[in-house]
Amino acid sequence: TPVVGVLALQGDVREHLIALAEADALARPVRRAEELAEVDALVIPGGESTTMSKLALAFGLMAPLRERVAAGMPVYGSCAGMIMLADKILDGRDDQETVGGIDMTVRRNAFGRQNESFESAIAFQGLAGDPVHGVFIRAPWVEAVGEGVEVLAELPAADGPESRIVAVRQGNLLATSFHPELTGDHRVHAYFVSMVENAAR
Ligand code: GLN
Repeated sequence: TPVVGVLALQGDVREHLIALAEADALARPVRRAEELAEVDALVIPGGESTTMSKLALAFGLMAPLRERVAAGMPVYGSCAGMIMLADKILDGRDDQETVGGIDMTVRRNAFGRQNESFESAIAFQGLAGDPVHGVFIRAPWVEAVGEGVEVLAELPAADGPESRIVAVRQGNLLATSFHPELTGDHRVHAYFVSMVENAAR
């Protein structure tokens, strides 16, 4: 059974711990570099990416996180966690650092004030059954992806021809704009746990 940490500096840590346990992983919070060293994989939760970034730097976790990502550790980021996995961000704070790893440009708070929070049915590549119930809370979208990035889900634009990328995968890294941990549907977490199992071989 894979041991999956949840970065527990800030954000909806508890919901991810529960979702991971229901997806048959051994889930535990990670706050220190020593704890990061003990997990097979990591979830970076939703929350506030500027605060999370500051705390990761203050706790000495940014460098170890980048090292583990470079070494191939599977990581799943939801919402603020997606921002943390982006190589490039737009509308970030000036000094906001990310862990990076996914060759994408992510725009923070992209869906705008009138739509700060909304829900939508999302067709998710690779998940059988009904669409995923997407809960978007001051969510980012993916504005551009590099060649190695697989788009797993897109949201059709409400007023315009452009759809927006809201879930991606690159190698062992997975990111969603939305929060499956808040829905009771653990298929996205199960998808991530199977990524972890395959990476371990
Ligand atoms: N707007 C937040 C940020 O920039 C993300 C919101 C969320 O994680 N629900 O970090």
